[in-house]
Amino acid sequence: MTENFTGNFTQQLPIPEEGIAAALDVMRSGRLHRYNLAPDELGEAAALEREFAAYTGAKYALAVASGGYAMATALRAIGVKPGDHVLTNAFTLAPVPGSIAAVGAVPVFVGVTESLTIDLEDLKAKAGQASVLMLSHMRGHLADMDSLMQICGDAGITVIEDCAHTMGAAWNGRPSGRDGVIGCYSVQTYKHMNAGEGGFLVTDDDDIMARAVMLSGSYMLYGRNGTVPDEAAFAEAKYQTPNMSGRMDNLRAAILRPQLAQLDVSCAAWNDRYRTVEDGLRDTPGLRVIERPAAERYVGSSIQFLLLDWSDADIAEALARCAARGVELKWFGGAEPSGFTSRYDSWRYAPSEPMPASDRVLKGIIDMRLPLTFSLEDCALIARIIRAEIGAVWQAAG
Ligand SMILES: *Cc1c(COP(=O)(O)O)cnc(C)c1O
Repeated sequence: MTENFTGNFTQQLPIPEEGIAAALDVMRSGRLHRYNLAPDELGEAAALEREFAAYTGAKYALAVASGGYAMATALRAIGVKPGDHVLTNAFTLAPVPGSIAAVGAVPVFVGVTESLTIDLEDLKAKAGQASVLMLSHMRGHLADMDSLMQICGDAGITVIEDCAHTMGAAWNGRPSGRDGVIGCYSVQTYKHMNAGEGGFLVTDDDDIMARAVMLSGSYMLYGRNGTVPDEAAFAEAKYQTPNMSGRMDNLRAAILRPQLAQLDVSCAAWNDRYRTVEDGLRDTPGLRVIERPAAERYVGSSIQFLLLDWSDADIAEALARCAARGVELKWFGGAEPSGFTSRYDSWRYAPSEPMPASDRVLKGIIDMRLPLTFSLEDCALIARIIRAEIGAVWQAAG
């Protein structure tokens, strides 16, 4: 009998009861805005900032409206101006080039390797074209951060990290987001904490933080934020920095705090699922799993594999066969952007030189979410289905 999978790839866990109770308290108080506080009240947004700063080991954390907003704010806070060029990954999602375009800057795409990380050779080759790198740890794959920081240091490139898929991850023990001058995170529903929408930035730099806080819309109430530099950092910033409101409210912060307390437990649960699928897929003919470096502590909230040099028709056939058995795979290499996937050449507002080696990799990237609502048995079944269907198409193709 053919086994089918009947689970839902977009079903998240519920918000922890503690978060629901805290959200109800915020609503009962009526004080939803982060600066609308009772005397001596810290507020949920400020408390969350302190806790997130402590979690990442950063001096400062700012809770904002989205991950994309965090990235655009980071670019503004380091002084990126309209017309400036900003290096970024060719393999990423639309909010990343979008954040660069949001400040009027121009994305310069850097290629992707078969490990699904930024191509450090291509980065070196393009290092003279920009003084900022918006580094996207796309789908949680961390590049060799020691080499990357060396290259950028030598070239005088400021690094901002997009950690939408690496909240809870680390390279050689350093939490993701802490190598760059600013780390940006998302708490959109499909990331590692779920607020529906939201984000953070973290930094150790007093002046950058002062500008980011002003940009986010703190008015002269910045002292009420959870982690704030000394008054001296605001001396100029408070007059010079435009307000581009994008604060996080107390309601979303309330549902995030218990999730942050459990984040490491969630990450371990994701990795159990990831390894179950990975084990089930390894050595499938025609399919390449992405081997993870020992220095990388990853969070397997999704899994990718490569169908390298497959024809478009065979990839489409394999995906259709998996879908018919309930397994939803996404194809980053499809010529037309669809769902959440798109390629660098779909972002026509940011034209790029062609990158044939990257195109070959992108064309073969297959992606699957691993929500925590899946059991380990679900994951083993999913792997058996992929293995059987991909194997069948591979064999038929000879
Ligand atoms: C989700 C995501 C972001 C941020 O997205 P928002 O929806 O703005 O929070 C940034 N980069 C990547 C790679 C993402 O997947």
